[in-house]
Amino acid sequence: MTQTPEAQEINLRIPGPTPVPAAVLQAMARPMIDHRGPEFAAILARVTDGLKYFFQTSADILCFPAAGSGAMEAAVVNLFSPGDPVAAVTIGAFGNRFAKIAETFGASVTRIEFPWGQAANTQTVLERLADIAGLRGILLTHNETSTGVTNNVQALASAIRAQYPDVLIAVDAVSSLSCIDLRMDEWDLDVVFTGSQKGWMVPPGLAMIAVSPRAWKANQQARLPRMYWDFAWAKRSLDKGQTPYTPPVSIFFGLDASLEMMRAEGREAIFARHQAIGELTRRRARELGLELLADPAFASNTVTAIKIPQGIEVKALRKALREQDHVVIAGGQEQLEGKIVRVGHLGYVHQPEINAAMDALERQLVALGYQLPSPARQR
Ligand SMILES: *Cc1c(COP(=O)(O)O)cnc(C)c1O
Repeated sequence: MTQTPEAQEINLRIPGPTPVPAAVLQAMARPMIDHRGPEFAAILARVTDGLKYFFQTSADILCFPAAGSGAMEAAVVNLFSPGDPVAAVTIGAFGNRFAKIAETFGASVTRIEFPWGQAANTQTVLERLADIAGLRGILLTHNETSTGVTNNVQALASAIRAQYPDVLIAVDAVSSLSCIDLRMDEWDLDVVFTGSQKGWMVPPGLAMIAVSPRAWKANQQARLPRMYWDFAWAKRSLDKGQTPYTPPVSIFFGLDASLEMMRAEGREAIFARHQAIGELTRRRARELGLELLADPAFASNTVTAIKIPQGIEVKALRKALREQDHVVIAGGQEQLEGKIVRVGHLGYVHQPEINAAMDALERQLVALGYQLPSPARQR
């Protein structure tokens, strides 16, 4: 896959929902089927198998009708009991959300926070963990979508596992899985989850969650209340080729088609495409004289956070891009609102869309009075 075959009317450059290929849209236009019949069972089996390839796991994968935040809640309520000591490593808004969910359900949460734009430092994490008695679980974000930073989960998990062999490691991989290498089994992770609307080239509606044998053991003892999110119920249903309650059937049609496309492209080729696209986006931003929020060593290959110079109104910039160029980019969240824009480049994305988006960004910045650095002006 080197070029997007059909022109999309809107250049949707937000970190989810992401553009959906025509073949996937067509697959989703099918009439409904019985979600407890043999045809759905075959699709569920095929989709689960395709997901295992991208999660790089032989663990069970459960699908819930939900946004990514549902998967975060599912991880918490299925692993822990009230008062369990849990560390939440947070480098941005989604890390904070994960922490807040665990706090809401009554875990004893220690937040290990890093400045927005930086990755979690392994040594600092280990030092902070040493202060927690009876540590039961750790919540990690693989790719922090609010800042465009990818944590080195491999390094974090291996350092943590060396000191805490039985600790439960839950990883939010909502905006990275299938785009950035994440090896659930090799890195010995316990719960890993993602959402359909990010790297999977399908609309929102499905959360996919992998559960390790260690997590299953914890699940039997975990006393937090759960019903909709109960892993054991989902697994009993999955073994019969079903889901506990009505699944988003059309999303399954779409995911079945997108996984076929993705397997044809190949996991490593998809990672390489995202790396090239990430590098292109960062280079184009730097050529405009703009600063990136992320520590360059940990810059995300699925979303780029770009600082917008003082004096340029982010709201006006995004409005002009949307209305005049049909380019839709995201703003900043929480403390970054009005300070950055975020360009999503995950899933069904190729160089022409990024170049078009960055060309438009250049034009609109200039229209708002921004002075380009001389090399970019000459281009
Ligand atoms: C998008 C996202 C979520 C939440 O997904 P929703 O579908 O909006 O609930 C969680 N974590 C990360 C890293 C995300 O990018």
